[in-house]
Amino acid sequence: MQKLGAYLLERRDGMQTADARSAESIRICGIIENWLRTKGASDIASGGGTYDAVDHSDARFEVVRAGDGGRTWTLYRLIEVTPDGRRFDASLSVTAGATSIAVYTTLGVGTASDLINQVEVDPRCPKVIRTLLEDGDSWYHGASRLRGLTHVVGFEAGEALALDIKHEQRSVPVVVLSKMHDALAIAGLDEKLAYDLAGTANVFTVDEAASWALTDTLRKPLSCYAGAVRLYWPGCHLNDNPYRHPLWTAARLHSLDPDEHRARERFRRRLRQLILRAAAVSVTRPREIDEIRNAAARAEFAEAKGKAKSTTDFEALADLFAKENDELRLELLERDEQIAELQAKVARLESERKGLMYHLRQARPDTIAVEDDDDVGPDLGEDATADQGPPEPGEVRFYKKRFSAPTHDIMVLVGDCGHNSWQGANKADKAKNGIEKFEGTRAWRLLQHCGRCTGGGRWRVEW
Ligand SMILES: [Zn+2]
Repeated sequence: MQKLGAYLLERRDGMQTADARSAESIRICGIIENWLRTKGASDIASGGGTYDAVDHSDARFEVVRAGDGGRTWTLYRLIEVTPDGRRFDASLSVTAGATSIAVYTTLGVGTASDLINQVEVDPRCPKVIRTLLEDGDSWYHGASRLRGLTHVVGFEAGEALALDIKHEQRSVPVVVLSKMHDALAIAGLDEKLAYDLAGTANVFTVDEAASWALTDTLRKPLSCYAGAVRLYWPGCHLNDNPYRHPLWTAARLHSLDPDEHRARERFRRRLRQLILRAAAVSVTRPREIDEIRNAAARAEFAEAKGKAKSTTDFEALADLFAKENDELRLELLERDEQIAELQAKVARLESERKGLMYHLRQARPDTIAVEDDDDVGPDLGEDATADQGPPEPGEVRFYKKRFSAPTHDIMVLVGDCGHNSWQGANKADKAKNGIEKFEGTRAWRLLQHCGRCTGGGRWRVEW
């Protein structure tokens, strides 16, 4: 069994009491059962049966329930076997735990026979996950709230997004689509990505002012602007290698296919695979599921043992143990297969990584830091764009204002304009704050402003 994707939706707000958790889990189970009925399942109460698969595969479902005191667990397992023997498995479980409700879903594919066969499948978000996400806006995954498509407008909203991106506790990938002249590089891509990645990533668009806020807070190598799309994995630090958070510039997006529709579909598929596969290996099953199931199994055995009087009773008990044993063995086997598959994947990725690092070093002997794509940057042709590290004492640097944030100007390093009309600058607090933010220090010896440069001006700083 190859795991294709996993979802964990958690609800905590208003779930303080056992009654609230019980009512909510019954309601959520109702939504899942309605979804099963739309697929043609009947007689859900009996614990299993058949339904109609879209491609006329052999389709079956089962419902398993367990409880431990006030905690409950309900599993809906759907299995479809195609005529050529491919098996698709979707398991959704609703756990009413000690403090929250968790809906844990896994998607898998395998072969019905024993043939181990790596299959290429394009995973999709099940419809019921979207229905659940649309039902109220208070779903979490770990510390992060799961959101629908969000449009970030203005510098301050952009700053808030940047803080969310670099937040240590963030547990959900963030996809940012930047705008240039109020348009995305590929029209409608934001809505499609939000649709595809529902429950596994939060998707944002940023306008130009919000892009400047990303540049200001995350620094340029980790920013996203001028029509680019960027995927920020959780655990994003300012000193990360920018390659860890993949960036597609507008030019690269356009080069995917001359036809916009096909370019959009290609990019969707790529991002879907990237993010759902990551979710498949990183989303872990809530521990309470096993606690509840183990407690329920122990209680069942204890009850049977307490009642057993005759040899026949004990034989029945032995059968029960044997059945449980078989199921556990099967689960263990599936887990072993998963581990083997993941180990193979890790080995492959590691060799790919080494290969990429090698090529990178060949291409740029001195550095592996990312350079900017100046051809798609926001009018940055004249700017010296790479970060140069902190200024040395005695060094002279030139700065230009690129954007006006509420408390400071956003500065970039530029060359000398050659005007030779440098003037003192006593006021200019926003410019000074901007240079301080850019360099991380205010310890300049002399700061001057060009009397002839227009358009935001140019600053000469002796450190
Ligand atoms: Zn000048």
